[in-house]
Amino acid sequence: MLKMKGERMNKKTIRDIDVNGKKVLVRVDFNVPLSSKDPQDSITVTDDLRIQAALPTLSYLLEHGAALILCSHLGRPKSPADKQYAMGPVATRLSVLLARPVTKLDEVVGDQVTTAVAAMKPGDVILLENTRFAAGETKNDPELSQKLGALADIYVNDAFGSAHRAHASTEGAARAIQSKGGAAVAGFLMEKELNALGTAVSNPPHPYVAIMGGAKISDKIKLIENLLNTADKILIGGGMANTFLKAKGQEVGTSLIEADALPEAKRLLELAGERLILPQDLVVADKFAADAAAKVVPAWGIPAHQMALDVGPDTLEHFNQELQGAQLVVWNGPMGVFEFDRFAEGTNNLAKLLAQLVNMGVQVIIGGGDSAAAVMKAGLADKMTHISTGGGASLELLEGKVLPGIAVLDNK
Ligand code: ADP
Ligand code: MG
Repeated sequence: MLKMKGERMNKKTIRDIDVNGKKVLVRVDFNVPLSSKDPQDSITVTDDLRIQAALPTLSYLLEHGAALILCSHLGRPKSPADKQYAMGPVATRLSVLLARPVTKLDEVVGDQVTTAVAAMKPGDVILLENTRFAAGETKNDPELSQKLGALADIYVNDAFGSAHRAHASTEGAARAIQSKGGAAVAGFLMEKELNALGTAVSNPPHPYVAIMGGAKISDKIKLIENLLNTADKILIGGGMANTFLKAKGQEVGTSLIEADALPEAKRLLELAGERLILPQDLVVADKFAADAAAKVVPAWGIPAHQMALDVGPDTLEHFNQELQGAQLVVWNGPMGVFEFDRFAEGTNNLAKLLAQLVNMGVQVIIGGGDSAAAVMKAGLADKMTHISTGGGASLELLEGKVLPGIAVLDNK
């Protein structure tokens, strides 16, 4: 088991292979926000962070003499008729960022693609149409995988956020290229994720403290369970803390809890004993609203008609003490309803605390879509050791699962 985990992280990257004169199929994550859902509008990319994040890999490959065939999914189209999810706006933005022409094709595979790819020279860049326009993509259809694989000599995956899905563009195409003797390797973004999260999964330095929060416990039972195997203690905040408090028999007023998850919460509390640490005080309000009147109460004293929307200052102080001496911290899930400024303090103060720990040499890794957003909103993103770009994928990796898009890549 451990050996397998070690191998999984020991993947070849684009540095390990020769790409000169080769056609390279790169699975990127260009799933970016768009300005409109109406295909009649001139749709533009409103946030190009993900396109920018792919540039180191793309530039490296171009500088080393490759021709690039790029593919990504964008949104959740039901069919190619969902024109608002076409890749045109992405190609326009990418072309500006790369400062070279990007040819956007109108299909994922087919005659147009085959002809265009046959004419490619080193330095050329083609962007295929939204992979989810192809019916076989999410089914990991062998025929689609073969057709994608037939386009290139080498497969590169730089889309960590999609690696937990066995789709034609994330798994099948890699196999198709391997079966004709080609390499399937990680790009730089993928490599960074594997180095950071891989350490936490397979070989964490100790003391290792995990911090969990967010809305629901039910999404994260497996994750907490696996963290109990790898981490020394788990600090709990956010909505999920309410379910744990309730499971301990405390009154939680009108707080968000998951009644169905109470038995699991009890089981985890028993399993963890002292190692699972709950909030000592909470910020409560009479309603779930940005302007709700807030006050701090002890965790054992949530009033009947109030709901907990954030952790309090004593909790932060206690967490601070628990974090002293840690070598590795993994954080997933906001401490409160950070979308409302009034209930964002617990999350923001934790982010500040973690930034200080990074300064002292502690490795701090953030996983989860909302957690990453909260740290960015707090302006502390560049202060952390690593912020994972893959929401679901990072959580599955931390759960100890094998991700198909990673497992398929060539081992070193
Ligand atoms: P991540 O995406 O980082 O894994 P989650 O999706 O699990 O995080 O949780 C994020 C959500 O949890 C946020 O929308 C936040 O408002 C919500 N949340 C945090 N604390 C509470 C709380 N006490 N009550 C209700 N919702 C909460
Ligand atoms: Mg989320």
